Amino acid sequence: MDAVARLAESVREADTVVALTGAGTSTASGVPDFRSESGVWNRFDPEDFHYQRFRTDPAGFWADRVELHETMFGGDIEPNPAHDALAELAEDGHLHAILTQNTDGLHAATTPAELVELHGNAHRAVCDSCGRRTDAASVRKRVESGERPPRCEDCGGVIKPDVVLFGERLDERDLRRAREHARRADAFLAIGSSLSVEPAASLPRVAARSGAVLAIINLDETPVSPMADYDVRGDVTEVLPKLAERVEDA
Ligand SMILES: [Zn+2]
Repeated sequence: MDAVARLAESVREADTVVALTGAGTSTASGVPDFRSESGVWNRFDPEDFHYQRFRTDPAGFWADRVELHETMFGGDIEPNPAHDALAELAEDGHLHAILTQNTDGLHAATTPAELVELHGNAHRAVCDSCGRRTDAASVRKRVESGERPPRCEDCGGVIKPDVVLFGERLDERDLRRAREHARRADAFLAIGSSLSVEPAASLPRVAARSGAVLAIINLDETPVSPMADYDVRGDVTEVLPKLAERVEDA
């Protein structure tokens, strides 16, 4: 029996299954990753997207941010077979929560599983002063028509993309929820993530230490791979549909 078939058995036997997804889950949807050769940080300077820059030069930040958004999400991005497979697993009660590092909103569009967007959601914007949330598309339009920086209609504060910028802390509640899910998981699937940045690096370890079966599905080896029960190297858009099919078929 191959690894995917054995993993399918573990998923079926688990009461609580939790997935963590990273950039590799969305590259097949046309969303570029950050660190590879064709990645976003080869075309943009990460320094320009620091919270500190947002604070000191919000007009310049927003001009660059609109460009970054266009590069990342400008094409008509749609869920790919990896998202669909996770949605299918969730619909059939084999996946309970998705913790994602992605800000593209593609899980929200498809899955009924509980979703923790650890780095926020690029389709939303938030007032940095009062916390009022708005739709990011309309904010980007205002930026493009010259409103730099865009300001909150309620309090006049500067509006920020509702994503975690460099130099910004993750939302404490989201982090707590993610750790709780990792602790309670019987099976934990780390999908398309290099597991090199926090908290993605530690969540699979938390799950494994709490007794979960740990599976890593990624093109390349990760720092957590040596402790995984299943280390599946492959394209997530091929592995996940196969996994979902095996889980359903048995
Ligand atoms: Zn405000």
